[in-house]
Amino acid sequence: MRCTAARVRVVGIVQGVGFRPHVYRLATSLGLSGYVRNLGGSEVEIWVEGAADSVEEFVKALRDRTPRAAEIEEMEVRCEEPRGYAGFRIERSLGEREKISMIPPDFGVCEDCLREVLDPASRWYRYPFHSCAWCGPRFSAMYKPPYDRENTSWRDFPLCDECLKEYEDESNVRRFHIQGISCPRCGPRLYLVAGDGEPVPTSDPLREAAKLVDEGYIVAVKGIGGFHLALLASDDEVVMKLRRRKKRPRKPLALMALDAGTASRLVEVDDRARELLESPARPIVVLPRREDSPVSELVAPGLRSLGVMLAYTPLHYLLLLETRDKFLVMTSGNESGEPIVKDEEEALRKLRGVADYFLLHNRRIVNRVDDSVVRFTDGDVTFLRRSRGYAPRWLRLPRPVRRSAVAVGPMLMNTAAIATEGYVIPTQHIGDIENIETLEFLLEAIEFFVRAYNLRMKEGLVIADKHPLYPTRELARELADRWQADYVEVQHHVAHIAAVMLEYGLPEAYGVAIDGAGYGDDGQVWGGEVIHISEDSSYRRLGHLEYLPMPGGDKAAYYPARMLLGALVRNSNPEDGLSLFLSRGYHELLPGGLAEARLAARQVESAPRTSSAGRFLDAVAAALRVAYERTYEGEPAIMLEEYSWGGSFVELPLEVEDGIVLTGEFLLRLVEGEFSSVHPRDLARSVQQSLGRCLGLIAREQGAKRVVVSGGAAVNSFIVRGLRDVLGRDNVLLPRKLPPGDGGVSSGQIFHSVLSGRI
Ligand SMILES: [Zn+2]
Ligand SMILES: [Zn+2]
Repeated sequence: MRCTAARVRVVGIVQGVGFRPHVYRLATSLGLSGYVRNLGGSEVEIWVEGAADSVEEFVKALRDRTPRAAEIEEMEVRCEEPRGYAGFRIERSLGEREKISMIPPDFGVCEDCLREVLDPASRWYRYPFHSCAWCGPRFSAMYKPPYDRENTSWRDFPLCDECLKEYEDESNVRRFHIQGISCPRCGPRLYLVAGDGEPVPTSDPLREAAKLVDEGYIVAVKGIGGFHLALLASDDEVVMKLRRRKKRPRKPLALMALDAGTASRLVEVDDRARELLESPARPIVVLPRREDSPVSELVAPGLRSLGVMLAYTPLHYLLLLETRDKFLVMTSGNESGEPIVKDEEEALRKLRGVADYFLLHNRRIVNRVDDSVVRFTDGDVTFLRRSRGYAPRWLRLPRPVRRSAVAVGPMLMNTAAIATEGYVIPTQHIGDIENIETLEFLLEAIEFFVRAYNLRMKEGLVIADKHPLYPTRELARELADRWQADYVEVQHHVAHIAAVMLEYGLPEAYGVAIDGAGYGDDGQVWGGEVIHISEDSSYRRLGHLEYLPMPGGDKAAYYPARMLLGALVRNSNPEDGLSLFLSRGYHELLPGGLAEARLAARQVESAPRTSSAGRFLDAVAAALRVAYERTYEGEPAIMLEEYSWGGSFVELPLEVEDGIVLTGEFLLRLVEGEFSSVHPRDLARSVQQSLGRCLGLIAREQGAKRVVVSGGAAVNSFIVRGLRDVLGRDNVLLPRKLPPGDGGVSSGQIFHSVLSGRI
């Protein structure tokens, strides 16, 4: 394109991230004149004119050199006639806020800010709250959009003269009109208090806190989106102390490392992992533990991987820098099962007895945001938790919705989502809705987005899961009443699959749900499903795992040996099943031993039944004695997957008949010792991979060339590998923007309602 003037429209994360000053600098450096202005709705309009070569170079550079936190989703360039502008200007925003603008996520500290924080000559030297256009809190600090200082918790800190001068300087790429800037003169302050709330007198709270951590104390640290508990990760006793105090026996704890170099001493960091670790979102990345890793085994008992993130604020960086290890356990500060704590008073109350000291500051956290967690699933990056750094970015719908909608999600690892205009906006991670605190957090998040995006919910739509006992469903009904909105339910796995369809823009799809549990249309517990969803939103269940009994109901999800016993009893007869179970000594995996096994065998007849992939994997984990109790969501299946590392695939007789994967029969043969010549590691791997193959076969037999995959166990690399064995690598689509687990369901609830034309 050769033109002497161009109008460029850019859509994406282009507001509140220093995009306009970046454009200004680029245009002026090329001698171009014109203007740049915000249009609202996450759009920026640019006019450039001058030499044709320069215009061309400008457009190319704009595409190639996006500022760190900005992201261009769409760019449209049109040739125009020059208008004779003198110079280049940043124009005031048009004020017409007809379109909504995306609330930017929080960004991890950038290199330039870090350099300033570490430079003794800089006015930000050792300043823990330094941030700029390219980094720092956004969503967690926002009361409402647009991103202006008075709408953020920075409003409590009026800018000093020096900061104000930089704020108003158009040529200041990193600070012009950036709301989160501050300095030691005008910004927030740190202070340290003891566990009883008494201030600890010190001239340097950061150094003092680091010293306390090194001495083995647990220090609660107020960060961007909530509190962490910081402690030595290399000391068994300290880690044990935390586990005791938090009553969390085995759930893996997250680590924070000073930088990628430090992280690579703990875990295997390849180029892709490094890129993720250092990305502005700074997620926790689950990576293989190094053999010589100095991290205590108690950080992730029985697991071969560790979750590591890099310091993502100057506060974290400076704290870690002062510690002896340069890496720490940094786990969410909350009471078990409750949302992450965000206020001082709440922290002192709820973390009393867990934290010995509190490193606090006086900047308010508006929206709590937990750390995000990602992992690699058969080579693809998938979310275990999508929150800080990603939420509340939106996903585009194929068409604008006709009315607003709120989807409340299912129950565990929950998020909600809203739909407005052409977007779905999932909330940050909320947690397991098993207590009043998380239910209130869910409501708080929903209300924030309804307010922030000015949703008209009267005559809107509220969407819930079909499960009659989910508290979210109750909440959805109440909201529908309150707003006089319509109410609809979407089946759990249909929503799972719809979420992936939304991501890939598919109007119709074959889906495989590899999940723990969801309420099925027949009243049973579904969770290993092959479902086809048509363009009109109707769906057909094409196949699933055999229904296995869950003796004792939910208890069977906590003690996987119960699932195993259930399968044996169902697939032989009650006496033979039980005696086979006892003869192999599996009753020792149950807390109540022999008596419990006998009772559970009697419960089989009347037990709820499930096609859950998670429960099948649990039973396999018990059969191979890899896990005997679930102390956190998915534990036995995770243990099984990790146990399989390095194992090879062998053919196993896990078979499909009329669309049903015959899991019970297989478990019986497994316990009878049919595969005793196979190394247990190979066996473990092969069961998972075979399960994937079976599900892939069901889909293929029904005409699927390509499947989308979702569900809590869809992050299992071996199952995904099995699906890919059958369908080909590129024909198995995993969610990349949303979690495959239940955190993605709310977005699927929305998309299913778009397909059905309800919204
Ligand atoms: Zn910065
Ligand atoms: Zn200042």
